[in-house]
Amino acid sequence: MDHECPFCRIVQGRGKADILYSDNDVVVIRDIHPKAPVHLLVIPKRHVGSADDIEDPSTWSTVMDAAVKVARELGLREGGYRLVVNCGAGAGQTVNHLHVHLLAGRVFGWPPG
Ligand code: 5GP
Ligand code: ZN
Repeated sequence: MDHECPFCRIVQGRGKADILYSDNDVVVIRDIHPKAPVHLLVIPKRHVGSADDIEDPSTWSTVMDAAVKVARELGLREGGYRLVVNCGAGAGQTVNHLHVHLLAGRVFGWPPG
């Protein structure tokens, strides 16, 4: 745990968040600045800085399985949804604790900006 990390604070219950799902390994919260009608963040409870810092490859199945499970529970399959991982500041990563964005509820352009 990184005590200064905003997502570790949320995992520890020390930061305010709208939590939609939680299990032993992940927490799913609403993004504070949503970029789509549905904009959730799937966050591993164990601190990992970025995709490039993953040492245990099961981290991917943990976060991606949770993302798909929550998307199904919210009925997002029919309209479609997008899963995004920004890795590094150049790609738009602003919080250095791995997270998967789950976006839905509007039409998304391709390629992303
Ligand atoms: P990144 O830019 O690193 O890919 O995504 C970080 C996301 O976390 C951004 O969409 C930002 O709005 C969101 N965010 C940053 N701090 C907080 C917070 O304290 N609470 C919540 N719910 N979202 C946050
Ligand atoms: Zn953290």
